[in-house]
Amino acid sequence: MTDCLFCRIARKEIPTEVVAETLHCLAFRDISPQAPTHVLVIPKEHHDSMAAVSDPVVLGRVVALAAQVAADLNVAEAGYRVVLNTGADGGQTVLHLHAHLLAGRSMHWPPG
Ligand code: 5GP
Ligand code: ZN
Repeated sequence: MTDCLFCRIARKEIPTEVVAETLHCLAFRDISPQAPTHVLVIPKEHHDSMAAVSDPVVLGRVVALAAQVAADLNVAEAGYRVVLNTGADGGQTVLHLHAHLLAGRSMHWPPG
């Protein structure tokens, strides 16, 4: 049991707009959306970041749910971006592994 923010969201202790849930993962709207569609996908189990994950199945579940949510929200055809900010230089602010699903506008490259 941890009081990490996303662990608390996974336990439904903090209200969030859930868009999809599986046995192992939760997808919910980002509180500060950076695109018309901005969904976070997390494993319910705590991992600090993708650098801390030893079991690739965990990463597979997260990415697979991001793809499923993109399809369900009808953004897959137009395209989308999945981002896993990792560590300080990666811009990670919440230390619980999460993938950002961004869609609904054209993305820029290189990222900031
Ligand atoms: P990071 O910067 O770690 O890659 O992304 C963390 C994300 O979590 C940010 O996009 C931020 O807006 C989002 N976030 C932070 N606190 C909350 C919260 O309480 N609820 C939701 N739904 N998103 C949050
Ligand atoms: Zn956590």
